[in-house]
Amino acid sequence: MARQDRSRAASAATRANLLALDEPALEQFVKDLGWPKFRAQQILRWLYQERIHDIDRMTDLSKAERTCLSSLAAIDRMTDCEVRRANDGTRKLLLRLADGLAVESVLIPDADRLTLCLSTQVGCTLDCGFCLTGQMGLKRNLAAHEIIEQALAAQDRLEPGERLTNVVLMGMGEPLANFDAVADAVARLTNRRWGLGISARRITLSTAGLASRLRDVAALGVNLAVSLNATTDAQRNRLMPAVNRLHPLNRLLAACRAYPLPPHRRLTFEYVLLAGENDSEQDARRLTKLLNGLRCKVNLIPFNPFPGSPYRRPADGDVLRFQTVLRQAGFDALIRKSKGRDVLGACGQLGELVQLSPRATLTPA
Ligand code: SAH
Repeated sequence: MARQDRSRAASAATRANLLALDEPALEQFVKDLGWPKFRAQQILRWLYQERIHDIDRMTDLSKAERTCLSSLAAIDRMTDCEVRRANDGTRKLLLRLADGLAVESVLIPDADRLTLCLSTQVGCTLDCGFCLTGQMGLKRNLAAHEIIEQALAAQDRLEPGERLTNVVLMGMGEPLANFDAVADAVARLTNRRWGLGISARRITLSTAGLASRLRDVAALGVNLAVSLNATTDAQRNRLMPAVNRLHPLNRLLAACRAYPLPPHRRLTFEYVLLAGENDSEQDARRLTKLLNGLRCKVNLIPFNPFPGSPYRRPADGDVLRFQTVLRQAGFDALIRKSKGRDVLGACGQLGELVQLSPRATLTPA
């Protein structure tokens, strides 16, 4: 190891990473220094609203306070970030984590929106056969600061005039399998005093269907999306074996019906359309029965292929036929445009670059 790297590693080991502290932990840190409580708010504002990398830029702290803080703590931002731009303007961000693993997020511009899709795990706990991330297995959970770092990195790279309008927790991983970190990241995303100030109504968490944990999402105030993807247990066991074995369809839908949905909000059901698997008219009709009476909308996602996947994207006509059955039954059913496919940035395509990148093969010691 070069001398510079060694000393950086040594100081990183001894100094606290301010980004790794949540609000109460930072308040305690500040209290231990004998500083007034409001210093914590000031520091948080620098971290999340100004997105500084260097404690010395905290100009509302005295020089002596900055020196003291720098001797104990650092702002360990992740600076190794590769951006892949797709022809449709979608940008995939590949962030290198401290242990050499990588995580992907996607910035998706649309007419009047700019949506950021965040990852919550490296790889995934689940094994859904149509999803590239599912093929990687779980490398590890992301810490809250590694989730929020994706938002900071994206903010740093916005183009002039751009503003983030929406956040979706739909990237790599199963958010409800890493709930505490996700809740902490949501708190930093939504906090108006010092955080990113994104309204919880503009944030959507998507789960593969961990039925017993749905209620936890309500407490966060964000929108809930459930990836249904099948209309019978036999089919869902084939497509999403791990999750459906634990949370079969009837239990998942019962949890959706019991979900404390705030007024004026709807659940979202996602349904990946796989040619010849779950895209028939009969599937569509069964879906209308399963969702009968639920305040919801349905997002149809034609399958986005990845190398080696056994599934096919249905023909456009078949997608439209599926949508029509839902609409005729009174459901609001949208076909999700696949964005960023040429950089493997669309739904279900996150993961391959992580596996291919030589540096990503480093594992923590
Ligand atoms: N684990 C969470 C979030 C990640 S997946 C979940 O399952 O909801 C985000 C969405 O992409 C899910 O609705 C999932 O069903 C869908 N998806 C996964 N792979 C896909 C693929 N190859 N093509 C299209 N959509 C896919």
